[in-house]
Amino acid sequence: MKNNPRLSPLNIDNKIKKNKVQPLKNMTFALKDNFAVRNIPTTGGTKLLENFKITYNSTVYEKLIKAGAKPITKANLDELAMGFSGLTSGFGVVLNPYDGSKIIGGSSSGSAYLIANKEVDFSIGSDTGDSVRKPAWYVGITAFKPTWGIVSRYGLFDFSPSWDTVGWFSKNVDDSALLLDVLQGKDEKDFTSLNSREKDFLKDINNIKKEDVKLGYIKSFLDDIKDKDILNKFNDLILKLKKDGFNIVEIDLDLKLFKTILTVYRIISSVNGFSSNSNLTSFLFGNFELENDEFKNEITRIRSNFVYEVKKRFLLSSEVFLNKKNLYNKARKIRHLYINALSDLFAKIDAIIMPPAGNYAPSIKDAFNAVKYNSIMDEYLGIFNANGSPSLNIPILKNIEKPFSVNIATAPFNDKKCLQIGKLLEKYER
Ligand code: GLN
Repeated sequence: MKNNPRLSPLNIDNKIKKNKVQPLKNMTFALKDNFAVRNIPTTGGTKLLENFKITYNSTVYEKLIKAGAKPITKANLDELAMGFSGLTSGFGVVLNPYDGSKIIGGSSSGSAYLIANKEVDFSIGSDTGDSVRKPAWYVGITAFKPTWGIVSRYGLFDFSPSWDTVGWFSKNVDDSALLLDVLQGKDEKDFTSLNSREKDFLKDINNIKKEDVKLGYIKSFLDDIKDKDILNKFNDLILKLKKDGFNIVEIDLDLKLFKTILTVYRIISSVNGFSSNSNLTSFLFGNFELENDEFKNEITRIRSNFVYEVKKRFLLSSEVFLNKKNLYNKARKIRHLYINALSDLFAKIDAIIMPPAGNYAPSIKDAFNAVKYNSIMDEYLGIFNANGSPSLNIPILKNIEKPFSVNIATAPFNDKKCLQIGKLLEKYER
């Protein structure tokens, strides 16, 4: 399998006027190929949009250029960001840079690869369920998903808009904080965007004392971890942190309620993903031309170009639409139960600290079997998309065979604390 992390090369759009103050001057970056860059193909990882050019820039790209950053390349992704492996793009695969027989994870697979392989200074991805944080875990790199809405999604392909979040991979927590300084803020082109309520993320990054933060780990979730090596490493770290003066408590979340995330995420994101992509017919724009009058035959022919993973989700969505509408409404109600339970929890602690997943990067062979979605640890990170919390992957053991990280999540709009805690934990990196 040929490894294909890079899509179209990127240049600086000279029409964009750079700011006088350029905090990202000369920092190189890659951009997931579901963000629009004017006159450069924006494919969303789908064959249906091969060579498709958009006439405007995503706000994220514009802000990065204004801040002096240097674009290098579009990054490959699982088709339409609906994936978890790096194996389901319309344009070849992205593999684990340390061991080509393993997956890197997805859907922001190219963006993760280019940081892990040290080809750029930072890279931009998108995260609907865990698409930035899961690959970061598999390869042991820093990745941040800020509070939902505080970074404009203008020019990013919709998947499941009320879960979709711009996220990024960086060399360290400082750079992640710097990127939030640059990227946050209400954008009149995206009416769902919000101001962050905080500022000076980098400037204040060390303004924290470990004795003052209260961290909690979720016992019932840990009990669901199958790979005991992950559990041992996590317990070792917790012991060490406690010894060093961190205040860490065991907390409780109703496993029975939260385990529904596996189904709730699937139903809501697939139904939203189907409707977000309903314009992908190729009739109005795109690659394939109408060959006869019969819409049904034609759409079947054209949409057969989607990868299996996307077809599967569209089928699930159609089944819900046609026969099980109440499932969608039930799923939305359950989402509110998560939001309430998490807000109760964040009234008691500052941040949740957990291993990001219950397994290390699986082999390509096992990728689709290993992820069986029967453990909460397969996909619990999605609960922080359900409530919009900031969520940060902090590598602890950079051992490239089995890198080990922790995930830090804080209440929505507490991005600063999330990054500050990340900075404290970064010192434990080995
Ligand atoms: N694991 C999620 C999925 O398969 C990740 C998708 C995302 O965050 N874009 O859909």
